[in-house]
Amino acid sequence: MEVIETVAQMQQRAEALRMAGHVLSLVPTMGFLHEGHLELMRVARKHSDRVIISIFVNPIQFGPTEDYDAYPRDTEGDLEKARRVGVDVVFLPREQEMYPTGFQTEVRVKEVTQHLCGLSRPGHFEGVTTVVAKLFHMTKPHLAVFGQKDYQQLTVISRMVKDLSMDIRVLGVPTVRDPDGLAMSSRNKYLTTDERVSALSLKKSLNLAEEMFKKGEGSAPGIKRAITDLIESHPHTEIDYISICDPVTLEEVKRLGDENLVALAVRVGKTRLIDNCLLRVKQ
Ligand code: AMP
Repeated sequence: MEVIETVAQMQQRAEALRMAGHVLSLVPTMGFLHEGHLELMRVARKHSDRVIISIFVNPIQFGPTEDYDAYPRDTEGDLEKARRVGVDVVFLPREQEMYPTGFQTEVRVKEVTQHLCGLSRPGHFEGVTTVVAKLFHMTKPHLAVFGQKDYQQLTVISRMVKDLSMDIRVLGVPTVRDPDGLAMSSRNKYLTTDERVSALSLKKSLNLAEEMFKKGEGSAPGIKRAITDLIESHPHTEIDYISICDPVTLEEVKRLGDENLVALAVRVGKTRLIDNCLLRVKQ
């Protein structure tokens, strides 16, 4: 496994691999790798013959009061995990390499960023699209793999790729969960034992929404009320948002249709967690 730290070397390597006829995939991450990230790498491997991952905690996607400094990091552990899963290249740029002095360009997707996390984290998605666009130019992948856990991120990136005619296939991978249902996240490390129990309320409320939908509940406010009660019955929780929306535009709906997204962001103690599920009428 190769570890590359500079943009110039990464671009050279990607170009050489392309010229040699390889199909390249990219899995962008912020490190502190867990089984969810590793699953993305396995999927990437299935669809390509050279897997590149990037590890970069991207400062411009964190708000001024968010956890950039505290974000967990473990480069040695990450490299070991990546090696075991069969990654070919790890791109590990430093901040100055990614944002050299004078940097002033932003990539902005205008509409699908105006809902869900876009409302509570102003500037977040601009940070994401800007870094991902840069990573695409640095690693030149044919295919890029993202998790459905960050559903809006996947939507925003797919939109950017389409709108900017980037010749890259975007693949989404279902959320990987701990055995008790908690969606894996690098931020789960922050949770105390008690908070971790309360964190299960996210998945429980998605299950409840699914049950209600299956039984024919068509009112979004009705489902939201049930979810709010369930989450609020757990200590240490504070709801940031509960959204029932169109899975393409992410616009809120009042009545559920054939396809709906339920997306949640909940603060458990100081940790902000997100989760989501699709509610679909079976064909
Ligand atoms: P992050 O390191 O949090 O920026 O995540 C890097 C990639 O891993 C993103 O595409 C995430 O959506 C994806 N990811 C994070 N957690 C999970 C999970 N539990 N299951 C599947 N994908 C995940």
